[in-house]
Amino acid sequence: MLIHCDYCGSAFDPEKNATCPSCGAAWAGDQEAARVKAQEEQKAKMEQEAAEAEKFAIAADAVRRTFDSANRAAGGWIRLFHVVFWLIFGAGIFFFFFILARMFFRF
Ligand SMILES: [Zn+2]
Repeated sequence: MLIHCDYCGSAFDPEKNATCPSCGAAWAGDQEAARVKAQEEQKAKMEQEAAEAEKFAIAADAVRRTFDSANRAAGGWIRLFHVVFWLIFGAGIFFFFFILARMFFRF
């Protein structure tokens, strides 16, 4: 099967040449497959990140509940509760953006 290169227009057989023998451009059919594959990988990765973020949110909520009930038991704890809660929540925000940064900058 002969196709025409999207870039230089020369005819070649994509089954014999993975890229255009004249200019080296990839066949658009391959590019589409690669694009779909990359999209699926990105989706799977984002779902995994979302699941991790949710797990973290559940853990943070459990910590909040613990300090909440402690605060109810001992009324004077409200300031300590706020300091500790925001420290933990701040760490959570940091962790969330750390994951985002890893996702986009791949380190
Ligand atoms: Zn070409």
